[in-house]
Amino acid sequence: MRQNMCGEQMLYHVVEKFVSINGEGERAGEPAVFIRLAGCPLRCSYCDTGYALSYDSPCELMTAEDICAYIMETGITNVTLTGGEPLAAEGIDILLAQLSGLPVRLEIETSGAVDISVCRVSPSAVVTVDYKLPSSGMESRMVIKNFTVLEPEDTVKFVAGSREDLDRTLEVIREYHLTEKCHVHISPVWGKLSPSEIADFIVGNRLNGVRLQMQIHKIVWDPNRRGV
Ligand code: SF4
Repeated sequence: MRQNMCGEQMLYHVVEKFVSINGEGERAGEPAVFIRLAGCPLRCSYCDTGYALSYDSPCELMTAEDICAYIMETGITNVTLTGGEPLAAEGIDILLAQLSGLPVRLEIETSGAVDISVCRVSPSAVVTVDYKLPSSGMESRMVIKNFTVLEPEDTVKFVAGSREDLDRTLEVIREYHLTEKCHVHISPVWGKLSPSEIADFIVGNRLNGVRLQMQIHKIVWDPNRRGV
């Protein structure tokens, strides 16, 4: 069983919680409080959160109330719920409903391998959906139906590690008309593809509405540092 109970309350497996700046997304560069839940059904080739992949990862067990209280104590109004794959956590609908009652902007980072419909229990939440490209080894796990429930403030993020990945990005953007539905970002797999290659690709293909995004926290701090 992935989650424990405390009386009638669900306990969530929080691998880490911290305040930093948003490294990615529409609020990149702004302060944010991060809640990282344990467990992920994928194993991407470039994953940089190996410590959060197992449902048995070392963690703190917290109720939804505990998590909300921590967020409010920080005084930070951008909240990023991440993992692992937070939407795979048992009872995630309960946690999202509780978070939706807070006076914060909630952003949910998800792998693209889980139905994102559950996020709508928190009507103001914005969702960043990864699309796993060929170099991740996980493209076959993508839930394409997610493209039909995107809202304008959501984001589809492509993390590209090769020229083949960029070519596939172009196909997916065009096939599903993503720039007409939501924000679209392309980031390099750290150390695998240069930002200039992505910039040239975006400009060369006239990808209006597509943004090159760097993981700011990896530029500001050591790329391997946790808790930032
Ligand atoms: S979806 Fe994210 S957390 Fe899961 S393996 Fe891939 S990169 Fe790692």
